[in-house]
Amino acid sequence: MSDLPRVEIYTKEDCPYCENAKDLFDSKGVEYETYNVTGDDELFEEMVERAGGRKTAPEVFVDDELIGGWDDTSALEESGELDEKLGLADEDGESDGPQGNRTEGGDAADVVEHRTLIIAGTGIAGLTAAIYAGRANNEPLVIEGDEPGGQLTLTTDVANYPGFPEGISGPELVNNMKEQARRFGADLKNGIVDSVDADQRPFRVELTNGDVYTADAVIAASGASARTLGVPGEDELMGYGLSTCATCDGAFFRDEDMLVVGGGDAAMEEATFLTKFADTVYIAHRREEFRAEDYWVDRVHEKVEEGDIEIMKNTELIEIHGSQAEGVDYVTLVENDKGHPTDRLDDPETDEFEFDVGAVFFAIGHTPNTDYLEGTGVEMDDEGYLRTQGGDGGGQTETDVPGIFGAGDVVDYHYQQAVTAAGMGSKAALDADEYLEDLERAESAGTEVAAADD
Ligand SMILES: Cc1cc2nc3c(=O)[nH]c(=O)nc-3n(C[C@H](O)[C@H](O)[C@H](O)COP(=O)(O)OP(=O)(O)OC[C@H]3O[C@@H](n4cnc5c(N)ncnc54)[C@H](O)[C@@H]3O)c2cc1C
Repeated sequence: MSDLPRVEIYTKEDCPYCENAKDLFDSKGVEYETYNVTGDDELFEEMVERAGGRKTAPEVFVDDELIGGWDDTSALEESGELDEKLGLADEDGESDGPQGNRTEGGDAADVVEHRTLIIAGTGIAGLTAAIYAGRANNEPLVIEGDEPGGQLTLTTDVANYPGFPEGISGPELVNNMKEQARRFGADLKNGIVDSVDADQRPFRVELTNGDVYTADAVIAASGASARTLGVPGEDELMGYGLSTCATCDGAFFRDEDMLVVGGGDAAMEEATFLTKFADTVYIAHRREEFRAEDYWVDRVHEKVEEGDIEIMKNTELIEIHGSQAEGVDYVTLVENDKGHPTDRLDDPETDEFEFDVGAVFFAIGHTPNTDYLEGTGVEMDDEGYLRTQGGDGGGQTETDVPGIFGAGDVVDYHYQQAVTAAGMGSKAALDADEYLEDLERAESAGTEVAAADD
């Protein structure tokens, strides 16, 4: 009998996080069984029971022990505990893998490997940068982060990416890009960048699992992560009826009333998608006007006409009620015609009421993933978005630190589109290539590389 652990993954259709979990075990060469719960009520109930009431996919088990969803699995991967559970850790408790290549000597004793270019993120920006950098012979190492493939893996229908007249699913587009990047010599690695030390050259890039790489240049393409509201009930019910990903979890709440919170493109798209499953989809938006593109507002209004969506303007959610055993029961909302009702809780015209829903989806924007650049000298705005140089000519993706570049949603809080992220990814790779060439020239001449403006 095999002494390898038994890995089981409950999956569903159109589930990017299920693909992430499968990719992770594939990258370790670990075999697993998958159970697709889509359309199979018995299997779905089995999953919910084994997962202690959680109604999200994937749910991962190792030797019958619940690991959890993608977040839990990737957290265990980062801490090295997943390899321990899988019997892949060596006697010192360290994961087998690239540590075998550690460089010897001095400060570099704990360095796994030196790379010309490290790219943080495998979203559209990071992968496009990887394609360009690979073609420029800069052999990029691309670190996946905790959301391999980035935000676009959360959507089944990308209708506005040029070149796909019938549209393309987000995961398919991302997988094509990954294949294209690998074809040109990029290496993709599971891991999260924890810090970049810009006081030394080459840069010292440390991952959260303790692995350290050095790099001559770094492209930050780490995008942005879904925001939450911080309201009571949120922590307890995340994954139990509350979600930030309609495409991932919508199908689990078939025939329920569902609430989408938000007023931008993502909220409109998610609400439209959820009409496939919901009895009625309600949108709670804190203002009178939506921020979304006209295209999405029109789609939503079509669904309103058809009776599938109801819009609650000038309305905010202040509490979610329910339990992990029973899921979301109802929410508390506040409404005031003047907008932003949570700023007007003392206003006698603010109406507070309870509202029955079976699931809640947050689509309220994103926070840039830039913590790992704190202390580097890279300038950021108040929200943490990277500031790069704009304007004419080259160098548009340069940060204040020569050799560190930014691309995609981590810089561009305004457009936040796949095609603009791709465009910026290509620019970052070209700017990095120019920097690396200057660096090589300066090294052979024994001088230092300055920022482009100098
Ligand atoms: C539901 C949804 C639907 C969308 N639909 C469309 C659409 O139809 N058309 C369109 O044009 N746009 C769409 N968008 C927007 C589009 O997905 C984004 O603009 C685009 O993905 C941004 O790409 P990015 O590479 O900059 O960042 P992201 O996609 O956010 O990718 C960031 C990457 O960085 C990684 N990362 C984060 N922190 C670290 C770290 N510390 N170390 C290493 N890696 C890290 C993450 O794991 C991820 O791989 C949609 C977005 C959402 C959420």
